[in-house]
Amino acid sequence: MNWISEWALPKIKTLFGAPREVPENLWHKCEACEQMIFHRDLERALHVCTHCGHHMRIGAARRLEYTFDAGFSRIELPRVPTDPLRFRDQRRYADRLREAQAKSAMDDAIAVAHGTIEGHRAVVAAFEFAFMAGSMGAGVGEGIVTAARLAVLQDAPLIVFTASGGARMQEGAVSLMQMPRTVIATRLVKEAGLPFIVVMCDPTTGGVTASFAMLGDIQIAEPGALIGFAGARVIEQTVREKLPEGFQRAEYLLEHGILDLVVARGAMRETLGRIIGLLRVPLVVPPEPEPVVEPLIALPPPEPAATS
Ligand SMILES: [Zn+2]
Repeated sequence: MNWISEWALPKIKTLFGAPREVPENLWHKCEACEQMIFHRDLERALHVCTHCGHHMRIGAARRLEYTFDAGFSRIELPRVPTDPLRFRDQRRYADRLREAQAKSAMDDAIAVAHGTIEGHRAVVAAFEFAFMAGSMGAGVGEGIVTAARLAVLQDAPLIVFTASGGARMQEGAVSLMQMPRTVIATRLVKEAGLPFIVVMCDPTTGGVTASFAMLGDIQIAEPGALIGFAGARVIEQTVREKLPEGFQRAEYLLEHGILDLVVARGAMRETLGRIIGLLRVPLVVPPEPEPVVEPLIALPPPEPAATS
């Protein structure tokens, strides 16, 4: 009877415009091809459109779930001073922050967890775009620093999934300071000889692109992800030229050497596992040469052997 209640009934009700007792989110519309996809199919396809392959934006919690093997643990991030500038535009920043926290059940726009990926230990930080457009303020900076320290402590690679509109305007200079701060955090990982992998998701722009997100040992992106610093329209107006087809998209950047790989969501875990496996192969140290003992008496050279 499942198919009747989950598939046939909603379709009939939509057709006849019956009152909406069916939860609205049973069917999702793909923004790219506008086809409808049933929520279970969408979940099974990791939120990739089953019709056109469009990679939909997903939250940090799902991202961690899709990336790790079963049994990972999320860590609590240190608290940072909220609203350091007591900023207010049309609304108070503190109010906006509270609202975003209530909506997403997160303290800020980043989640950090540790666990295994295809059996390899790893620390993953994932941006939450739904939280104030994944903007980077002190909270997100703290998240990256904590993730980097955890990676060093656990002797594990650091993987960051980015999805951000850039700096958190409401934190002014404090937000800008997160750029050098996160860069230094990634140095900690590199100095410990650990891989730092960046997976750029749709969209990765502004201060995040201009700081740690471009410094990965391996730069990966999801198909179709928008990656850039300034918006295409701003660039077009500045250079007064028409920008090429696919400008600032993952595939274009791969073609032009900014990225190493564009990996579909369904293959991400396996790819990350393989990369970590390759990068973490223990180095083969050549054995120490045997010490040469000088003979006490110089012996005459051996007679050359008779050849027939
Ligand atoms: Zn689609």
